[in-house]
Amino acid sequence: MSFKDLQLNKPILRAIAEAGYNEPTLVQEQTIPLVLDKKDVITSAQTGTGKTAAFALPILQLLFDKQDAPKKGKKIRALIVSPTRELAVQIGENFKTYSKYTNLRSTVIFGGASIEPQIDVLKKGIDILVATPGRLLDLHKQDYVNLDYIETLVLDEADLMLDMGFIDDVKKVERLCPESKQILLFSATMPFKVEQLANTILKAPKRIEV
Ligand code: AMP
Repeated sequence: MSFKDLQLNKPILRAIAEAGYNEPTLVQEQTIPLVLDKKDVITSAQTGTGKTAAFALPILQLLFDKQDAPKKGKKIRALIVSPTRELAVQIGENFKTYSKYTNLRSTVIFGGASIEPQIDVLKKGIDILVATPGRLLDLHKQDYVNLDYIETLVLDEADLMLDMGFIDDVKKVERLCPESKQILLFSATMPFKVEQLANTILKAPKRIEV
């Protein structure tokens, strides 16, 4: 299978070709069509399997299809919640790489760093937000993050997120997003508490294990 078979647009194909990706990994092959079909998905996959692109590429594709022309007043339409700053930054870098030839904008917010530069970027308007839970809720409370237009919510490394004690924050974030959103849950392992969370918030999820 090739990336072209996965129905990705030219600007995205060009960016991944430049990144040296020749063909989709197994997790990408299985996850991308379901995300494009707007299904809720539970993917159990380790880091290193290409799982970031498995959600990032179809999210870009979905947003690209109905891109807002004006840069000002952009609404955040995809939210990726990640347990740690390092992971969030990595995901943010991947989004920048893959969206290079689109007008889609993304940024990363995380705790333990100065909040002002993060606020400045948010004010300019972005399409895709990658965030750690605490800083996300903080900036939402301060009205710099509006979650009313979220179409896709990704919970990355869900097992780690729960281990780190973010369960209530994650549930809160989920409730702040519109009811109609698509949810993608990624986890290296699937302990009971991750299953329980998935059963509570996902709608008829498709399951992928690699
Ligand atoms: P991840 O599992 O998302 O942390 O990705 C692991 C590494 O694989 C990252 O360095 C990606 O840039 C790279 N990668 C992801 N998808 C592909 C692909 N289809 N072909 C080659 N490398 C890839």
